[in-house]
Amino acid sequence: MTVTDDHTTLTRPHLGPRQLFIDGQWRESVSGARTDIVDPSTGEVITSVADGDVADLEAAVAAARTAFDDGRWSALPGRERARILHRVADLVRERADELVAVESVDVGKPISLCRAVDIITIAEQYEYASALAQTLGGANRETPLDAHAYTRREPLGVVGAITPFNFPLILSSSKIAPALAAGNTVVHKPAEDTPLSALLMAEILTEAGVPAGVVNVVTGKGSTVGEALLQHPSIDKIAFTGSTGIGRHAASVAGQNLKPVTMELGGNAAHIVFEDADVEKAIGAIIKGFVFNTGQFCMGGPRLLVARPLYETVVGILADAVPGVPVGDPFDPATVVGPMAADKHVRKVEEYVEIARADGGRIVAGGERLDLNGGFYYKPTVIADLPNTSRVVQEEIFGPVLTVQPFDTEDEAIELANGTEYGLASGLQTANVARAHRVAARLQAGIVFVNDWAMLDPAVPFGGVKNSGFGREYGAEALESYTKVKSVIISLAD
Ligand code: NAD
Repeated sequence: MTVTDDHTTLTRPHLGPRQLFIDGQWRESVSGARTDIVDPSTGEVITSVADGDVADLEAAVAAARTAFDDGRWSALPGRERARILHRVADLVRERADELVAVESVDVGKPISLCRAVDIITIAEQYEYASALAQTLGGANRETPLDAHAYTRREPLGVVGAITPFNFPLILSSSKIAPALAAGNTVVHKPAEDTPLSALLMAEILTEAGVPAGVVNVVTGKGSTVGEALLQHPSIDKIAFTGSTGIGRHAASVAGQNLKPVTMELGGNAAHIVFEDADVEKAIGAIIKGFVFNTGQFCMGGPRLLVARPLYETVVGILADAVPGVPVGDPFDPATVVGPMAADKHVRKVEEYVEIARADGGRIVAGGERLDLNGGFYYKPTVIADLPNTSRVVQEEIFGPVLTVQPFDTEDEAIELANGTEYGLASGLQTANVARAHRVAARLQAGIVFVNDWAMLDPAVPFGGVKNSGFGREYGAEALESYTKVKSVIISLAD
């Protein structure tokens, strides 16, 4: 993830009502119902999407099933799929402004960050998937049998992709790109509140040459469309990203149906600052780690653990610096922190900050809503001195809130870092290389950042341990998770 200083301006898009994308066609839902989509920076309705239901999901799964079974995608040579996936990446770059405008108005993402992070990331995801599509293959296996034995990697079939509200483009592409590289077809259910970019990507995939029926998008509720997708017998794999609670349910349904799943769930990462850290550099990473995407970041670093000799210094620097982080209209190119994606998320943050006050937390920055244009804003907030048992430390807040706690020894820092139910990301700041490797090995997390935060790349796998889930996205590991291995043994006897 690279953040550049691109201060290009952009105007808010005027969006017409959007439909479902099934079998290469735009359709109203069978019921005709629609859902309003709200701009989080104003609270105003900007457009509506079709409110899909079980009948629409059935049609999408049927289209994806036919598209898989007749081989229009899976039987293409990998190199041909690669060419089309590369074209997707090119179109993402060409249509970047359009994608940024839609994603920003839907989620409240600052346009500068959306352009530098989300758009670049999805272009790179498709470029990487294009390369993967050309590497799909099996291996010879030496055997004492009088036989020639080899393996084939084959696509799974129809993939059900369920994605959350916070990174709609990145988290849908992290599933769809490798799934397509392997030859699968897809039914995608985006989050209720932020479905717009998934529909725009369906248009881009089609323009790039992905055949009808290969990617289908059904907007709608988790309790109807999502549930029907989980339960559907024609779905061969569920790729789920979302909360630990819903993920637990999704995994149990998939378990009943014996379907493979990837579970990318909640996080509550610790960010450890050792006494030998470069504090000035660390402060930048600490702030990025908790305000990025307005704290709606599963791999954010909302729990800061600081070596006691540096504790008050770091708290003081944060108290001075955090109020200066530019919060405001996502369409202002200078904005770093936008609104939260929905008012319910702000209310959740307010509840946690109240708990922090009751638990004796010292609020050194923020601690309240920001009243701006009727939007869903909360000031970046830093809370020191909370006990480790506080729910504010233990639970996933998913907002722009940082707790700060001191520690005395390396062992204590690791114990505190590992001391929640989550294990998605973790990180540390140190100038000591030996300590970096030693601590990284002991942190219970799927990814460990050293001396920076949120360095992500499609080539490097990520995913969780403990209640943050299982399975990996990105990297060659992602391709493996969208394929099955078949062994072929050919007798050499006459
Ligand atoms: P959520 O669990 O509420 O919803 C995720 C998706 O599941 C949505 O599309 C929703 O409609 C759908 N859903 C809801 N009920 C369902 C059901 N019964 N059956 C099937 N689908 C259903 O999560 P959210 O609030 O959209 O996203 C925030 C959560 O996602 C946080 O916990 C965050 O940590 C997590 N997250 C994890 C990662 C990761 O990579 N591990 C990335 C981003 C977000």
